[in-house]
Amino acid sequence: MTTGAAAPSLAALAAAYRDGATTPTAVTEGCLGRIDRLDGRIGAYLAITRDAALADARASEQRWRDGRPLGPLDGAPIALKDVLCTRGVPTTCASRILERFVPPYDATVVARLRAAGAVILGKTNLDEFAMGSSTEHSAFHPTRNPWDLQRVPGGSSGGSAAAVAGGLALAALGTDTGGSIRQPAAFCGVVGLKPTYGRVSRYGLIAFASSLDQVGPLAVDVRDAALLLEVIAGHDPRDATSVAAPVPDYTAALGDDVRGLRVGVPDEYFIEGLDPEIEAAVRDAIAVLRDRGAAVERLSLPTTGHGLATYYVIAPAEASSNLARYDGVRYGLRVEGRDLIDMVSRTRAAGFGPEVKRRIMLGTYALSAGYYEAYYGQAQKVRTLVRQELDAALARVDVIAAPTTPGVAFEHGAKADPLAMYLNDVFTIPASISGLPAISVPCGFSGSGLPIGLQLIARALDEPTLLRAAHAYERATPWHARRPALG
Ligand code: GLN
Repeated sequence: MTTGAAAPSLAALAAAYRDGATTPTAVTEGCLGRIDRLDGRIGAYLAITRDAALADARASEQRWRDGRPLGPLDGAPIALKDVLCTRGVPTTCASRILERFVPPYDATVVARLRAAGAVILGKTNLDEFAMGSSTEHSAFHPTRNPWDLQRVPGGSSGGSAAAVAGGLALAALGTDTGGSIRQPAAFCGVVGLKPTYGRVSRYGLIAFASSLDQVGPLAVDVRDAALLLEVIAGHDPRDATSVAAPVPDYTAALGDDVRGLRVGVPDEYFIEGLDPEIEAAVRDAIAVLRDRGAAVERLSLPTTGHGLATYYVIAPAEASSNLARYDGVRYGLRVEGRDLIDMVSRTRAAGFGPEVKRRIMLGTYALSAGYYEAYYGQAQKVRTLVRQELDAALARVDVIAAPTTPGVAFEHGAKADPLAMYLNDVFTIPASISGLPAISVPCGFSGSGLPIGLQLIARALDEPTLLRAAHAYERATPWHARRPALG
């Protein structure tokens, strides 16, 4: 790669390092150069760790020169969503309340990336505390979609998706609670994978909704997503919800063959309100899978529409509890007051943005005495029904194929009504509340040149099948190789 060129895949990068065709320092400098030239327009980053990145790149370079790389990610420049704790580097959740918070430790996923030799470029922008679908609700600045700067990159991992799409990082980590990896991946034309709940440690991920949050990769192709998952997945004694199952060799599971794979296509994901261009692209994608040997069948998942309401009770409920810790006492912002209560109240009033306050209020209400059963208890029951329905479908088929989003990237400010924003998550939420792995892969472009995402959902811990299907599709189509023209 020469400075400023479109980003290669991580897999290609490792081969180039091995052959000496390029070096970790040259590639890291290339990314930093693109950040310098382009990030003023895109706004993907909240912090750039330039000196540490260059030092890490030099160390990686030495390892490659000595013929002792730490693995295929050694020297790979990667960006991290700013909800992941990074030792000595500010971690803000794009919120005023954590503006000056510098964690004393690395999240497990960050430690694993470092141990694999990855070069951390910096921290990416998001909707405050990962609440949103557009990255407009960052306390610091919005992020713009590299395909059209008037449009949003999606969210909440919009900074990570925009960084990868724009070649401002070769890959990134995001988090997905209700769609926050898959939806921005779809909007930015990259691959985004939400692993099975528990597959990846949440230790050091600042919590939004603990029963839903999961860390996952955003990458230029499916193989890179598999490479990253292999490094970040696995049991962690520091996260009680992390799964003890061994980590499969995800890249070995890739192929370009889906013969015998059963693909279910649920009617309820092709409903009124779905952009016809997205419907056409996703149906074409399903036809590609059929042509490659998959057996495609129609399915019905009648609870799909209930997922949204369920999520928007459970996620705010958990958020209201998780965010109670920001009280100005131990870390983050403090606004002094007359007494303790006044201090806490002033701190929270000044520190949280409007969407976060809305969620705290909704969640507190849903959990309050007298309403708990009607809202939170009821939502938990519906959550079980959605999961049972998906599990039953996935007993018959290996993967479910559907659109990732009902529309393409929208213009900044277009969804000022919170309900309109929430509706964006209708197709990503069922896998979230069911804890199932799901991926978004590029499957075409709208007439106006905006990317479209195909979503695939698989059984719990069956990332190998999910990745195999996504990879076979990707190999048969040109979409993932397109890059926005940014100059
Ligand atoms: N858009 C959803 C929300 O606002 C999902 C966010 C996420 O996955 N972090 O809650």
